[in-house]
Amino acid sequence: MAKGNISVDSENLFPIIKKWLYSDKDIFLRELVSNACDAITKFKTVALSGEAEGSDAYRVTVTVDKDAKKLIISDNGIGMTAEEIDKYINQIAFSGASEFLAKYKDENDDSAQIIGHFGLGFYSAFMVADSVEIDSLSYQSGAKAAKWICDGSMEFDMSEGERTERGTTITLNVAEDSKEFLEEFKIREILRKYCAFLPVEIYLENANEPEKEEKDESEKPEPKPINDTNPLWMKKPSECTDEEYKEFYRNVFMDFNEPLFWIHLNVDYPFNLKGILYFPKINHEFAGIEGQIKLYNNQVFVADNVKEVIPEFLMLLKGVIDCPDLPLNVSRSFLQNDGYVKKISNHITRKVADKLVSLYNTDKENYEKYWEDINIFVKYGCIRDEKFYEKVKSAVIYKDLDGKYMTLEEYTGGKEKAEVYYVSDKKQQSQYINMFKEQGLNAVELPSMMDTHFISFLEMKNPDIKFKRIDSALADTAEEADADDENNKKLVEMFKDEINDDKLKIEVSKLKNKEIPAVILLSEESRRMQEMYKSYGQQFAGMADMFHDEFTLVVNSENSLVQKLDTLDEETRKLVIDHVYDLAKISHSPLDADQMSRFIARSNKLLEKLY
Ligand code: ADP
Repeated sequence: MAKGNISVDSENLFPIIKKWLYSDKDIFLRELVSNACDAITKFKTVALSGEAEGSDAYRVTVTVDKDAKKLIISDNGIGMTAEEIDKYINQIAFSGASEFLAKYKDENDDSAQIIGHFGLGFYSAFMVADSVEIDSLSYQSGAKAAKWICDGSMEFDMSEGERTERGTTITLNVAEDSKEFLEEFKIREILRKYCAFLPVEIYLENANEPEKEEKDESEKPEPKPINDTNPLWMKKPSECTDEEYKEFYRNVFMDFNEPLFWIHLNVDYPFNLKGILYFPKINHEFAGIEGQIKLYNNQVFVADNVKEVIPEFLMLLKGVIDCPDLPLNVSRSFLQNDGYVKKISNHITRKVADKLVSLYNTDKENYEKYWEDINIFVKYGCIRDEKFYEKVKSAVIYKDLDGKYMTLEEYTGGKEKAEVYYVSDKKQQSQYINMFKEQGLNAVELPSMMDTHFISFLEMKNPDIKFKRIDSALADTAEEADADDENNKKLVEMFKDEINDDKLKIEVSKLKNKEIPAVILLSEESRRMQEMYKSYGQQFAGMADMFHDEFTLVVNSENSLVQKLDTLDEETRKLVIDHVYDLAKISHSPLDADQMSRFIARSNKLLEKLY
């Protein structure tokens, strides 16, 4: 049997790396600046080990030179000897990072995270450059500066370098089709996006800017780094103030509404995870609900809203997550199938649930204030993720008719089998609300589209609890009337004759509120069917008609007008019956245009009868 190594012809590999490794050209700068930061982190580590003398002004400088068509990234890090360039750069995919980590694993604590992993990042420079130059001086005593030049073919030139100070200068001769990367604003934008929180100070310079020599040296503004080297999420939660959290939120998300509250994630085991999740203030149900979760890897920005790492429903929040163990450049399909990623995602979900429950238990007053803003998020989370629901259900609250908040358990009094009455539109359902209140009955407010789904979800989880809209049944606002009673039979006939609608059910009942002549009820099931088919759209309109609304008109035999009906002349009686029906309808849902015109005309006629 013959054995052998499959050989990859690098000439075929190179164009692939250049074109397909990264879908987004911008990230070449992220790669080169992270390499520069890594080089500095490495040097700091070496200095810590006593092998070299440290300094205190570590920096990465990115220089745009539009005139010379160059972009230069320079660092004062560890540097490379000619041999190292040969090893790390010429041999594609031989990452120095893993080798370095192995060698200095004792000195390498949490504060010295090395970003590189793959040994491919450097070559992303060729996505935008015709040729790339490395000029490097290693920290090692007696080292000579080394220069490497490559035009993107498989050939390179090595010669003596020009650097006199420790570190590396990478010069890109920017290609014609990538001219945009010679614009200072473009480079600033990329640095702000990807490098805003890198751990080494990064300065952006423009080589073409005329020196303002006439100015006194002391008047020159102090150059400022482009990044915040110590982002808030890296600090211990106990060392961060509320003001710092709010300021960080403003700066990162450009949202000048204060966040409601936040969760600072700080995990070492079983994986590394740091971050801050903010619950934003939502003003309207659908406006501004779009959240943003920024994913970082060792303070390097990776992407927004990576739904494999962050559960989808958490995308309604705003926040930053730093996960050093995730590779920087990975395919979505890799993340989807990775058990490790799933663990991270579960952990984040659990933390969010814990925070909500603890807030509810320890700071009910504020929690109730936030509820208006967070309830959509919490309910959506419950529907999307049962584990989240199980954790958080004791902190799902409902506003009752008096505006007080209660849990479902409090509403049902802990009963397993119960009916929960709810209001979806306070104004439209005010008559029913009043009838409920008069009888000391309670109901909860569930007004949003999300609530409609949440109700179905709750019923599925708790089959013995039935939600009923407040206008679907009389509950204890009435007593049953004797259907065999002659007077009641007559009442039903009178209404039937006049209204003349087969689909309408007519019943008599003894409403406890005697002022109300009649009310409309709409059965919960048929309303839900209707809503469902309507939400499916036009092609289901026919289905919706099949499940037509099952309205019931309940005539109140206790009402004096109803009692007097058979004493009225026929014309007046008809007017009154139609009017009583319309009034019941209006209290239930708005009249259409025709119905409204008829209602007004009839009102005028009835008023005339007063004289
Ligand atoms: P990675 O960063 O994923 O290891 P790269 O292709 O970006 O892969 O870099 C390969 C190696 O080249 C790095 O691991 C490092 O050893 C070396 N290197 C790259 N840039 C620098 C730099 N600015 N200073 C020192 N060494 C560098």
